[in-house]
Amino acid sequence: MHSLKAYWLMLLALLLAGCSTGERPRIKPETTDYQETSLYKDVMEVSRFVDKNYQHANLQFFGTTAQGKKLPLLIFSNRDVKTPEEARKLGRPVVLFIGDIHSGEVEGKEALQRIALDIMDGKYDDTINQLTILFAPIYNADGNDMIDKKHRTNQNGPFGGVGTRANAQGLNLNRDFTKLDTPEAQGLMGNVIATWDPDMLVDLHTTNGSYHGYHMTYAPPLNPNTDERLVRYQREQMIPEITKLMSMRGWNTFYYGFYRNHDDPSSGWVTYSHTPRYSTNYYGLRNRMALLSETYAYVNFKDRIHIARDFVMTVMKYCTDHADEMISLRDSLDADYRDFEPGRKAGVTFDYADPVPGTILAGTVDTLKRQDVDGLTMQRVDSVREVKTRIYGRFKPTAERTVPYAYALDNRSGRYDTVITRLQQHGIAMYRAGLADPVNVERFKPEKVGVERTYEHHDMVKVSGSFEQEDLPLNDWVIIPTNNSNRNLVFYLMEPESDDGFVRWNFFDAALQSDDAFPVVKIMDEQDLQLSPI
Ligand SMILES: [Zn+2]
Repeated sequence: MHSLKAYWLMLLALLLAGCSTGERPRIKPETTDYQETSLYKDVMEVSRFVDKNYQHANLQFFGTTAQGKKLPLLIFSNRDVKTPEEARKLGRPVVLFIGDIHSGEVEGKEALQRIALDIMDGKYDDTINQLTILFAPIYNADGNDMIDKKHRTNQNGPFGGVGTRANAQGLNLNRDFTKLDTPEAQGLMGNVIATWDPDMLVDLHTTNGSYHGYHMTYAPPLNPNTDERLVRYQREQMIPEITKLMSMRGWNTFYYGFYRNHDDPSSGWVTYSHTPRYSTNYYGLRNRMALLSETYAYVNFKDRIHIARDFVMTVMKYCTDHADEMISLRDSLDADYRDFEPGRKAGVTFDYADPVPGTILAGTVDTLKRQDVDGLTMQRVDSVREVKTRIYGRFKPTAERTVPYAYALDNRSGRYDTVITRLQQHGIAMYRAGLADPVNVERFKPEKVGVERTYEHHDMVKVSGSFEQEDLPLNDWVIIPTNNSNRNLVFYLMEPESDDGFVRWNFFDAALQSDDAFPVVKIMDEQDLQLSPI
């Protein structure tokens, strides 16, 4: 007994010594036999350790959660980049990875910590010599720490429980990319997306639903208003190569989807949504590349971390190998969008495009017996079969409107201050017109106004109407031009009938509930408005 006690005391002393000398931490799943996921404090311990002990890492904070947690951003570059300006000067692709946006879906968070430690060990020197890497490992930090074994019980671990899907306000951070209701989204938008302007955004999730045969599924931006060249590059160059690299590591991957009828793979393979309230659809409208990844929930937790890690690694490798190509595509899009293209139409409402025939991998699952929770936990069985089906992987517009040269907003009453704040957070350029003469504009006349549904604490407004010409002096109005790379985003936010714009999210209720003229007009023709920045 005596010697056993001495042994434990010695072990305790060693552990304490280990902590106080800053011994290299391991990620939480590795220390718990993959039973537990990292808490916020664990992620911060790893992030601080990397920041302190590795010269090419820099830890910053991009926002504060509803409960007051500071959101970490880890920056990696062999040139010790610390600011967006330094990154821009370097001219390398900036690649942003987001983990834990839904904090029941945790392996992205674990993989990013694992890779951060591996970067320290020199395993990714090629990457940090050629890219600027940004990790936001724990985006939904509040939800993350609300661990409960009752969350996502059908998911194959971690069996110690996971956090909540929503943030502390009960809002889904992956529905908040247009309206920006949450402090998390405002921080990400204002201090990462609009400032660092990453060339590529990667959002790491875990899927559930259909019992398919893939280890991971993914999606590029899906909104049809996304620039064709960007979509084609991702679908024809990037994704096939990433798929090949993942398959060399033993992982089956495919475009994200689920069965049209729950148990029937031949009924159709359907993707999720075109709306930019989702991270990657949003990001495509900024003329930048994006990938959503969904590791398969019924693979065990340890393997899911490996899959997420391999995916992040593979994306980094792709961007390293194709850095020049990615930069030149971005630059040519940015240059083209400086020229206004009169008369171009874009979608305001959408539906699935006609399906195309294709083959998918269907899978099966076993159920796991668990004493500690009600409900069934599923486990992937390593046998798959090919099924011919119809793939609903794209969308098409069901109504279109013309993209103007600029929108003008009448905020002289101050009633639309929130619109101005949100546009600023999105990093959208706004001006005042110095021109005193009236300008010919099109003003929206709402005809049908209703509520689509109650969603994310909003009564979503659905409006349709027509446009009428008018001559207006605009010198006190806020002018939002579209001759820049955010054109598709500006259109989506400002166009009154848009299905994910500011009207839909109640920012213009004051106008719709009164007899006042609608406060947004469209300047259709390019003209010198003698603009000065706000
Ligand atoms: Zn998710």
